[in-house]
Amino acid sequence: MILQFFWRSIVNFTALAPKNPTQPTNQPTNQSFFTRASELLCNLNLEVLQVVPNLKHHLTPWKSHGLKFLNPFKTFDKANTALEVCQQLFADHRDIYHNFIPIFTDGSKSSLSTSFACVFVNSTLSFQLHSSCSIFTAEITAILHALNQISSSTPDNYIIYSDSLSALESMTSLHRFSHPLTFNALEVHDQLACRGFSVLFCWVPSHVGISGNQHADNLAKSATSSLNSPVPLNDIKEYVKIKLHSNWQSRWNLKETNKLHSIKHLITCWPSLPHRKLDTVLTRLRIGHTRFTHRHLLLGEPASLCTACQCQMTVLHILIECRQFNHQRIRSFHSSSITLKDILHKDPHPQPFTF
Ligand SMILES: [Zn+2]
Repeated sequence: MILQFFWRSIVNFTALAPKNPTQPTNQPTNQSFFTRASELLCNLNLEVLQVVPNLKHHLTPWKSHGLKFLNPFKTFDKANTALEVCQQLFADHRDIYHNFIPIFTDGSKSSLSTSFACVFVNSTLSFQLHSSCSIFTAEITAILHALNQISSSTPDNYIIYSDSLSALESMTSLHRFSHPLTFNALEVHDQLACRGFSVLFCWVPSHVGISGNQHADNLAKSATSSLNSPVPLNDIKEYVKIKLHSNWQSRWNLKETNKLHSIKHLITCWPSLPHRKLDTVLTRLRIGHTRFTHRHLLLGEPASLCTACQCQMTVLHILIECRQFNHQRIRSFHSSSITLKDILHKDPHPQPFTF
């Protein structure tokens, strides 16, 4: 499955990424497919990447799989709660759980890097992950590292604080499509429980002045050491998709003479019209290729010229430029100066078909 995915991605990527943007895309290259694929993997920093093994976790139906986590802020809306109230709530919570050693974890993702940090009572750790890792992977990796660090200590009561509700919720109920590192975290937790440790999890809101969380946040953002840990396959898929999209967009940005480019600058999906026939007409107008303007190519005839202007008939000329259609233009669009983008954009003008 992994090989299939990479094969498809590399084929797409090699199709979308010529070495020289000025070089025509249909020009044959002397490099073999594997040489080009290797270069692209190197450019994507995917050459030496390890994938998190997809271990078969046996989920028994008679045993619940997951852990509950504490949430002292459950009844409070973060957006409408003063920072002081959040801090007081946390102080009250710590009073109740004062005999549990606190550990704060946090993940961070920017356009340049993904990283995580753990703050223990007397020490900290922070690492950068591969840039393809998602923020969720960073958060769950931080929890996993906190658990691994606990396992080298003597049995005691610990409480792990995270500001990632999604990471904590993922541990409450496991299923076979759960994030692979969630299984690892639960496995370490179960081993710790067997050895007499008591480990709780608790959600805390971020950026409300809880010192441990702030410290973990700052450490994660400034992490410099790299941790060459395996990356979940879904993260790599998403990373390659984003790179492909970005590469496609960069190449589309260069196609300034393309008829569709003047109407559609971004390569996002546009909704289609509910009427199939009208949708086909609209698409042909957008790409500038219609039976009327291009049939001469099929019939081997000279291009048809506008009788009034003596220039070649194009969608642009008919809809926008030709003076002889000014009357119809004003009637349909209520303006004689209108652009193709105005008529054929994502939400097309309702009148091009009557025109
Ligand atoms: Zn004309």
